[in-house]
Amino acid sequence: MARYTGPSCRLCRREGQKLFLKGERCYSTKCALEKRAYAPGQHGQGRKKSSGYGLQLREKQKAKRFYGLQETQFRNLFDKAVKAQGQTGANLLIMLETRLDNVVFRMGLASSRKEARQLVTHSHFTVNGKKVNIPSYAVKAGDVIAVKAKSQQSPKFKEIKEMTISTPEWVTIDTEKLEGKVLSLPTREMIDTPVAEHLIVELYSK
Ligand code: SF4
Repeated sequence: MARYTGPSCRLCRREGQKLFLKGERCYSTKCALEKRAYAPGQHGQGRKKSSGYGLQLREKQKAKRFYGLQETQFRNLFDKAVKAQGQTGANLLIMLETRLDNVVFRMGLASSRKEARQLVTHSHFTVNGKKVNIPSYAVKAGDVIAVKAKSQQSPKFKEIKEMTISTPEWVTIDTEKLEGKVLSLPTREMIDTPVAEHLIVELYSK
């Protein structure tokens, strides 16, 4: 599946908001948004007024970029969210949250969703004891996600063993074992991603 390979900070500057795509750098003074808090390009510091459509488009782009999806993947997920029971916007966010790469990030086993995606594709994790290297894999309540025994020897994961990690209430992590559990699927209220999902629904419903 294709992925964005351009500069990450440019995406945050475009959205005017931190998307936390670069791990620790995002929390430091090196963050590009701290230095240049305006959109990239020649007209980045120009007119900011947006139409209703413009706001909806920006919200959709922001959600896509937060979770690192391309348009086709995002649209397919939206179509699934429409067919699922419940509110489409909430369904969409829950489906984004329960992607394996996001869950690895939420468990603190990666410093960003981008790194989580790379670690998953490099086969560092098992789900319920079986190797899974698909970032979009949808986890379920009760799933156990663990770092493979061989991968536990890498400096990256050894470092995590020393850390104290706070996770959202729907997942847990045992840093000693490098193993986490999905306690339940998240509800919309448990998801802190700053996205106004109703704008995305409005955009795709046109
Ligand atoms: Fe975004 Fe992180 Fe770059 Fe800051 S450092 S602009 S939060 S990707």
